[in-house]
Amino acid sequence: MAHIKLENVVKRFGDVVAVKDFNLEVEDKEFVVFLGPSGCGKTTTLRLIAGLENPEEGDIFIDGQRVNDLSPADRDIAFVFQFYALYPHLNVYDNIAFPLKAVNISKSEIDAEVKRVAKILQIADMLDRKPSVLSGGEMQRVALGRAMVRQPKVYLLDEPMANLDAKMRVDTRAEIKRLQHEIGATTIFVTHDQVEAMSLADRIAVIHQGLLQQIGTPHEIYNKPQSLFVAGFMGMPTMNLLDAELTLNEAESVLHLSHTDVDLRLSPERQTTITSDAQKNGLVFGIRPEHITAGSQPNEQSISAQVHLVEPLGAVNILDIRLGTHAETQDPILLRVRAHPTFPVTVGDTIWLDFDETEMHLFDRETEQALW
Ligand code: ATP
Repeated sequence: MAHIKLENVVKRFGDVVAVKDFNLEVEDKEFVVFLGPSGCGKTTTLRLIAGLENPEEGDIFIDGQRVNDLSPADRDIAFVFQFYALYPHLNVYDNIAFPLKAVNISKSEIDAEVKRVAKILQIADMLDRKPSVLSGGEMQRVALGRAMVRQPKVYLLDEPMANLDAKMRVDTRAEIKRLQHEIGATTIFVTHDQVEAMSLADRIAVIHQGLLQQIGTPHEIYNKPQSLFVAGFMGMPTMNLLDAELTLNEAESVLHLSHTDVDLRLSPERQTTITSDAQKNGLVFGIRPEHITAGSQPNEQSISAQVHLVEPLGAVNILDIRLGTHAETQDPILLRVRAHPTFPVTVGDTIWLDFDETEMHLFDRETEQALW
């Protein structure tokens, strides 16, 4: 199939730099998801790979061949857009067959190909229907079928499930994942939905303001965020991020969470990664809600704090715990903690918290890069 490489790619629209010095390699048969907030440059990057936009700087390679000057038609790529734009006057069969009619192959070969794809997508029994009588999910599968009959080197899918309801999204997501494994095509999928990204991707490329922030497996992106942006973007609820200061004395080094009574004793390994530059720039401590254990009794190192809010979500309760008060704004400093729904707690209770030391993160506030 295909290997894709972007080298120092830049795309501007007037004053807007939509894609900034973008470097990325997608391996053959890999499923990479571009994830990021609206306007971060996901679609533009996809359109650059497809040849629908031209980069101002940098090079794009497909299977080692520089494709900057190749037209979209010559790149052997299938593109599925957010709006699936089926031909309303053609039935499902002819919609799927459409790309094949443009190339010189026999009617019987077209027939075999349409039926093969329709079987995989489970739409074989609706080939004579017009798009107007199909559900959103069925239309989506027809659009995917139209992309699949071509057996291109690369699939580029731009929010292809944006128009589906929640249940259909989950079903179609599973279908796309299964199909991609079955067909083994190199695929780039754009979404702003982190659950979709985690569930589909071999690797996720997190993009923010035109910059590739981090690329890694879903596990790496979630558990080892390299920047404050990635840490704060992934997870529901997201990671707790609190200002902190390092205090060194002869006996030990301590990370103090600003405007709270919380002091975390640090191992020498943790301490040595905090450079003097980072100390000057300021520190941000991070821990995910599921890496804090709430208890009714203290342990040796437990932190005591008051419950500010209880959010029951069914499978878990999210507790907002008040750790202190901002000196200037007087706003409460809150920590979100995941607790089992049977954990007995109400607003105003004092509880004890234990942080999982292996799951703590620290960032340089200015460079926003991870120190742990
Ligand atoms: P969304 O998730 O909302 O689709 P995105 O991450 O795909 O967003 P892009 O569509 O790539 O983001 O846009 C990146 C930036 O480039 C945005 O600021 C957008 O306004 C700008 N932009 C994109 N296309 C054009 C264009 N044709 N002309 C001018 N500006 C553009």
